[in-house]
Amino acid sequence: MEQIHHYINGQLVAGGERRGTVFNPATGAAIAEVPFADQATADAAITAASEAFNSWRHASLATRSTVMFAFREILNARKGELAAVITQQHGKTLPDALGEVTRGQEVVDFACGIPHLMKGSFSENVSTNVDVYSIRQPVGVVGIISPFNFPAMVPMWFFPIAIACGNSVVAKPSEKDPGAALLIAQWLTEAGLPDGVFNVLQGDKVAVDALLHDARVKAVSFVGSTPIARYVYETGTKNGKRVQALGGAKNHMVVLPDADLDLAADAAINAGFGSAGERCMAISALVAVEPIADALVAKIAERLAKLRTGDGTHEVDMGPLITQEHRDRVAGYVQAAIDAGATVVADGRGVTVDGDENGFWLGPTLIDHATPAMSVYTDEIFGPVLSVLRVNSYQEALQLVNDHPYGNGTAIFTNDGGAARRFQHEVEVGMVGINVPIPVPMAYFSFGGWKASLFGDLHAHGTDGVQFYTRGKVVTSRWLDPSHGGINLGFPQNR
Ligand code: NAD
Repeated sequence: MEQIHHYINGQLVAGGERRGTVFNPATGAAIAEVPFADQATADAAITAASEAFNSWRHASLATRSTVMFAFREILNARKGELAAVITQQHGKTLPDALGEVTRGQEVVDFACGIPHLMKGSFSENVSTNVDVYSIRQPVGVVGIISPFNFPAMVPMWFFPIAIACGNSVVAKPSEKDPGAALLIAQWLTEAGLPDGVFNVLQGDKVAVDALLHDARVKAVSFVGSTPIARYVYETGTKNGKRVQALGGAKNHMVVLPDADLDLAADAAINAGFGSAGERCMAISALVAVEPIADALVAKIAERLAKLRTGDGTHEVDMGPLITQEHRDRVAGYVQAAIDAGATVVADGRGVTVDGDENGFWLGPTLIDHATPAMSVYTDEIFGPVLSVLRVNSYQEALQLVNDHPYGNGTAIFTNDGGAARRFQHEVEVGMVGINVPIPVPMAYFSFGGWKASLFGDLHAHGTDGVQFYTRGKVVTSRWLDPSHGGINLGFPQNR
């Protein structure tokens, strides 16, 4: 079986006695073993990053952007190779995996412009012959802890900017699909990044805790489920670190009665079942404002019947779930909804697949007449289950979205500009789509939710990213001449 490694100081290394199994979710086969870092391995990764930081922080902006440009070219030329690893270990379809890499590459493109992004400001003669200017400097070693569902894109939300700002990185990918991060690490080295600036530490809670407790780690970017995000935020900040911890989601798509129902049904299918619903921006609650619910459900059901589930390397629309355990958990929510009185319009539990029968399969599932009290609505499910809630007014729909503890993404479908504008203003969610079901911001804006979907102040990438990975410094300067002499113990004032 393939043995996966850590990547420390420019080398693939073993480390840690404990091991995890990596599966191909489309066949159910164990395909690789991944080491779980012990304290000593985590310490080696942080030491490598810490030592590399001492020189990388002095690298010129030109050097840093040159490395990013070179990495961008390698990534662009070999994105198929990376996508194949993602499909094999995660299960999403190849085109979807390619899409993930392309969206991640946008952040690399953005980071290539670091000389402009890190420009400070300068005020001449704030007092007579005194100038003031601001500069931004890297924070040090950065920990990046990522989830299984975007093994390339989520790390890429963070490390290009962290590195371009002059920091060094210890990345801790998900133990379920650790391969993508290793390819990326080797391509960064090939692009000219000095050893130790980007390290990959494989593992679980032990590795995460090492990053959260080591004083040499100054900032942590985390993405994963809300309970772990909260833990990472609280532990990291208690230990004096900057932390941005992005958590789970329950994204609502509100359809107003005036919407084009065909376009809304297409969007609900794409956003509900793409990547088997294992996206933090997936739509899982469809809020139909009456009287259109019956018509909309019929249109979604008609489309859903045509979706092909199977091995992501085949011509299919949707792949398997990440593990058998997760597949069973999601199927359990479907049963719980039935038991609570919801109607199952399409039940994915008996899906026919284009692929190995031992894969972790669950077909697209549509649940109608869900209510706010049902677990299928209260919980993040992270699977191909779309629940329809029926409401009687815009106000009721808004209330539902705002009352939910999560606030990652949401969308409204309508042709009424006034209603859309009102929704954008009133909804308590970090990312809003107007007739766009998955409103993932471009790299030069920032990605992040509200409420239980993000702990911390700054969102991912865009100018928030630059701010998160740098510290501001303000310099007040004058070049002395005899007129500056004299004793004055008063507080400095402008002259
Ligand atoms: P997860 O929380 O299980 O794991 C995330 C990371 O935390 C992994 O690297 C994992 O190894 C580590 N981890 C797991 N248990 C831990 C523990 N007890 N202590 C410390 N670290 C631990 O999440 P997942 O299942 O890999 O990913 C799915 C989740 O991620 C969903 O909740 C999804 O909404 C969320 N997600 C959110 C966003 C966002 O932008 N808000 C993006 C992608 C995924």
